Amino acid sequence: MAIDFILPPISLSSIDESFLSERKIQLDLLRLDQIHPQISGNKWFKLKYNLESAKKNGKDTLLSFGGAYSNHLHALAFAGFRYGMNTIGIVRGDEVRNSTLKDCMQWGMKLHFISREEYRSRYEEKFLKNYADLFPHAYILPEGGKNEEGIRGCAEILDHLPTNHYDVVALSIGSGATARGVLRSMKDDQKLFCYSSFRTNHELIEELGKENHSSFEIRSVFCYGVFGKITKEVIPFKESFFAAQNIALDSIYNTKMMMGLYRDIREGMLKDGSRVLAIHTGGLQGDRV
Ligand SMILES: *Cc1c(COP(=O)(O)O)cnc(C)c1O
Repeated sequence: MAIDFILPPISLSSIDESFLSERKIQLDLLRLDQIHPQISGNKWFKLKYNLESAKKNGKDTLLSFGGAYSNHLHALAFAGFRYGMNTIGIVRGDEVRNSTLKDCMQWGMKLHFISREEYRSRYEEKFLKNYADLFPHAYILPEGGKNEEGIRGCAEILDHLPTNHYDVVALSIGSGATARGVLRSMKDDQKLFCYSSFRTNHELIEELGKENHSSFEIRSVFCYGVFGKITKEVIPFKESFFAAQNIALDSIYNTKMMMGLYRDIREGMLKDGSRVLAIHTGGLQGDRV
């Protein structure tokens, strides 16, 4: 089947809060969460050129890695189902059956569970080589879809804006592939705020620094050093944001980004009159149990 990565128009929601309007700060949310019912948010952009590349290289199988709630594996499984390719998911930790993985299996993904210890070496060449030997027909995507194809796809996100007149772009960061792509397409006078629930990661800072002249900042959020931790502030914020804006945010990425952005604006990190674009990267499926 031909791959038809045609996107519907992506909408912008303007966020209405008195602490913003008092300072004439415009905050728009780019709704990547709405682009596709299954291939949510940034994952669509990361898969686009990877699928093309897999087809071009004559591969009939897609293989990648993730945790049990991985939005990346979920999107990959659906893409394989939709475009007629086999999929293999290498999952971190003990075998479980949650909603994410049940969907993956229903779309035909074969799951292999590996220990957390083994998973830790996922960036090592030996680890990837092992899977390339085991599955010679597979096109292997790194965790989070972080490769040149994935980054190239994310460099197209801002093309979907009616006008890009923003001073600051904000997004939540995991592997950093989305941030790298977005940085690549930003104007020199724009600034990227990356909301991270990791500890400061020097490799990531170095990678981002290579992308272009736009500046970026890694802003840490509410995690106490543990990725994916839902601290006690997260759920009340998510609920009150939904009540006020009628927009659902996932707990792991987008709620934390928005909490961090609100904090930064309240603490005066942005000048009065700033125009801010926050990217809603989707991921709501990962909130299920
Ligand atoms: C995967 C994911 C991210 C992180 O994207 P990276 O490109 O890995 O930094 C952010 N938000 C959501 C909802 C995600 O699913």
